[in-house]
Amino acid sequence: MDKFKQIADFIRDKFNTPHGPIYLHEPRFYGNEKKYVNECIDTTFVSSVGKFVTRFEEMIAEFTGAKYAIATVNGTAALHVSLLLSDVKPEDEVITQALTFIATANAISYTGAIPIFVDVDRDTLGLSPDALKAFLTENAILQDGECLNKRTGKRIKACVPMHTFGHPCRIEEIIEICKQYNIDVVEDSAESLGSYYKGKHTGTFGKFGTLSFNGNKTITTGGGGMILTNDERLGKQAKHITTTAKVPHPWEFVHDMTGYNYRLTNIAAALGCAQMEQLPGFLKAKRKMADVYATFFNQQGIEFVTEPKNCLSNYWLNTLILKDKAEQDNFIEFMNNQGIMVRPIWQLMNRLAMYNKCQCDSLENTKWLADRVVNIPSSVITNL
Ligand SMILES: *Cc1c(COP(=O)(O)O)cnc(C)c1O
Repeated sequence: MDKFKQIADFIRDKFNTPHGPIYLHEPRFYGNEKKYVNECIDTTFVSSVGKFVTRFEEMIAEFTGAKYAIATVNGTAALHVSLLLSDVKPEDEVITQALTFIATANAISYTGAIPIFVDVDRDTLGLSPDALKAFLTENAILQDGECLNKRTGKRIKACVPMHTFGHPCRIEEIIEICKQYNIDVVEDSAESLGSYYKGKHTGTFGKFGTLSFNGNKTITTGGGGMILTNDERLGKQAKHITTTAKVPHPWEFVHDMTGYNYRLTNIAAALGCAQMEQLPGFLKAKRKMADVYATFFNQQGIEFVTEPKNCLSNYWLNTLILKDKAEQDNFIEFMNNQGIMVRPIWQLMNRLAMYNKCQCDSLENTKWLADRVVNIPSSVITNL
């Protein structure tokens, strides 16, 4: 417990918070947030039409290098629409990781498809191309250009790798394997705004990538999301289907399909524009914090997760890998009792009631990590 006390003192010191709670990831509003939101109110453009939505989309496209960025009401909606536009249909199957936030699996379910859970890599914490390849070699056949699951007879239409806690997974290898099986890739990049794989922004490798601007993410719009794609036709379809599929006309309301009201409000986008202006500073501060943590935990003999080879991570949530389940339990209880919020990984998807009948591989690394991973306070601090 002495060691845990030292860690608690260290975190309190760095966050300059001698007493009171320290949260996992708090939003920071140091810039033009109030100014831009006031502009929405003053002009009455508070809803789904307004210049901030377009500006926010442009800022995200420019920052990530995606050709098209389409704002949505949240990251789950961005995933849902990306899967729909990848032609995922009811009774199809979609491969993803069990080690993820519920949104990934839920978005798959919204299309009527069924998730398959494949193992993650021990170092990246993201979907393992080795496990993916092994699963497909054992279970899949290509028939008339479609990937069929030999065990279920169903079509495997898409794969959703997730860049866990902002650490890029081995996305190039995943894309290559999926290409061989004619499986579309939707990157769940909700946690990885500002993370790069070999110099290219996460979320720009697959057919689609998705971002989230929930309150605990690297930047926030309160709630919000973004669809990324390099395909003009898909980009236009994504905009159309997320904005009720209304045919453009000054006064007539004609809709040419069942669309979704997944629009981001101008107020939320105004926050987003102000947050984007600060993103480079946030990323710098987060990298500094990760550096300070890495040095400290190294001295403590505790494993601190650092960015994978050839990658630049945004260090969204800083992550420890403890010795075993007992140490994980003790550490989480000790720190939370001290008012320092730390938490285990999400309950694995394959252990939730809705998904415990889904097909899985051994999930060896996934289960091993679930018993050891702890996220520690990661909010931006500017005075390190
Ligand atoms: C945050 C997050 C999402 C999207 O969540 P929303 O709250 O709908 O914006 C999706 N996937 C992962 C892995 C996430 O962490």
